[in-house]
Amino acid sequence: MYKLRVLFIFLWPALLSAQSYKKLHRRAIVVDTHNDFPNQSMEKGVRFDQDLKGITHSDLKRMKEGGIDVQVFSIWSDGTFGAGKGFARANRQIDSIYVWTGRNTATMMIAKTPADLKKAVRQKKLAVMMGMEGGHMMEDNLQYLDQLYERGVRYMTLTWNNSTSWASSAQDETRNTVPNAKKGLNILGEQIVKRMNDLGMIVDLSHVGEQTFWDAINISTKPVITSHSCVYQLCPVFRNLKDEQIKAIAKNGGVIHLNFFSGFLDSGFSKRNTDFLQLHKQERDSLKAINPEPYFTEEYLFAKYPAEVKSLRPPLSLLIDHLDYIVKLVGTDHVGLGSDFDGISSAPQQLDDVTGFPLITKALQDRGYSKKDIRKILGENFLRVFRANSAK
Ligand SMILES: [Zn+2]
Repeated sequence: MYKLRVLFIFLWPALLSAQSYKKLHRRAIVVDTHNDFPNQSMEKGVRFDQDLKGITHSDLKRMKEGGIDVQVFSIWSDGTFGAGKGFARANRQIDSIYVWTGRNTATMMIAKTPADLKKAVRQKKLAVMMGMEGGHMMEDNLQYLDQLYERGVRYMTLTWNNSTSWASSAQDETRNTVPNAKKGLNILGEQIVKRMNDLGMIVDLSHVGEQTFWDAINISTKPVITSHSCVYQLCPVFRNLKDEQIKAIAKNGGVIHLNFFSGFLDSGFSKRNTDFLQLHKQERDSLKAINPEPYFTEEYLFAKYPAEVKSLRPPLSLLIDHLDYIVKLVGTDHVGLGSDFDGISSAPQQLDDVTGFPLITKALQDRGYSKKDIRKILGENFLRVFRANSAK
């Protein structure tokens, strides 16, 4: 009996925490600032309100299961959709979001303001927001920017991997391939950031080059975000954030939302992934002949060799290490989650799709984070920035 009682006393906290993380997750406002489903939907010809388990990382039902309350969908295209094409491409994706939301009014709602967001959460609907990933889609046209805001776009990632005529990207700055006269923002770039501040469109500094980062954060009168970036000190890849950048975002009142991509979290991932692809080179080459889209070949091989692929993925604890790093540097007010689901080929163990979000809450609790801090990280930090940007 005594022994049983001792066992019970030891197990009780574990049992309690098993329950409490679910409750905490359910009650918190959970925000994910970056999900690439709209582009996936175009590439794969699928719809958000279908059951897409095994096909995509996300769908409406699984997002509910994952306890996500607010999803910012990324409106993305690569640099080939520039002048004459980018704005139309963005609008096509926005149209799809309106269609999905329009036929699921009981479970989804477009949120253009913090009040809309609160209303959606109160009514237990998914608050649907939009962020445009890549300034090239506004085609250097401030009127297009205004129209995108009108339609609900609430952040713009100034560049994707390609530079615009007015801002240099992280990829171009690090490779020394900036096509503009100088790195960073030019005069049009400064006008765009000012216009975004006036409109209430959040400046997103994921993907931008360091010079663009400093130019933009120095002139922005509102808090900025990175919608999907990690820590350079822990994983030195070109588009992760250096300590000085993390400190500057904190000083600006902004928030760094962590990307779940294995390759941005774990510096060993890239080599393991290359080795895996090399091992299956013959098969890869014949697949490429059938469909040259890189995602097709990778996804086929990933599905065919699940055990090998699983072993490539870092543990979930590594995502929490990146989070801890930022917290130790600047506190709990400046970090959040921007999964990049449906835009990435690999995420840490256990984060197989959007249903994995509660496990992050559990991991935070296990690391000793208070409920108050967990609520901030899960969504309140983003809400603070959204409110500050929306204020006229
Ligand atoms: Zn991205």
